[in-house]
Amino acid sequence: MTRMTRLTRYLALTALAVALVAACTPLSPAPVAPPWVGDSPTHASSWAPTRRNTDGTPVKWEACQIRVAVNHGGDMAFWADVTTALLSVEQASGVLFEFVGFTGHVPTLEQPVAIDSNSDVTIAQAASSETNLFAASGLLSAAGVGTPYYRWAQPGHLRIGAGSVVIAPGVTNRVHVIEHEIGHVLGLAHTDNATQIMTSQAITAPGWGSGDRAGLQAVGGRTC
Ligand SMILES: [Zn+2]
Repeated sequence: MTRMTRLTRYLALTALAVALVAACTPLSPAPVAPPWVGDSPTHASSWAPTRRNTDGTPVKWEACQIRVAVNHGGDMAFWADVTTALLSVEQASGVLFEFVGFTGHVPTLEQPVAIDSNSDVTIAQAASSETNLFAASGLLSAAGVGTPYYRWAQPGHLRIGAGSVVIAPGVTNRVHVIEHEIGHVLGLAHTDNATQIMTSQAITAPGWGSGDRAGLQAVGGRTC
């Protein structure tokens, strides 16, 4: 089955993930997205999943490892920050990432993952003018956008099958911004607890908070 065929099977995102900046705007589903069936985008708690299955379990990846391609856009400092963030997420979640190579691809709603890289997730640094993901998130000025893409594992049970992260050039606190967006890719929604990396506000936390860690454990792990 080709990558494109697989991608067309993904139920498009509901959890368009907006980092930072102003107050959290309710997230707009993509035009082809199914109705929102999970939690609301913001929560009066320290963590929450973007979606839940009908049995109440968080929707998450169910994989041995998650293959990642990176578009550093010629900025090797970005690549360094991505590796730092991926390692941090691995340690907090138990997820295993595999770097599969660099790509020139900038994720879009229609093509979230670089098709030439055999990857599950593409992480890129790109301006909001280079992709429609920022506009889809409702915040063109966001520092980044991280998006999980869902597919059915079985009736009533979704899993995340792909993801994309785009970070705007020149953002400050970039490692934490990347961590935040990868958190979305793993299935975490925003929290209104400002002490967490997954806050809907500007990130001020020095690292993962207790809610972040609980959430990453809930959506993390690997199946082999
Ligand atoms: Zn966010």
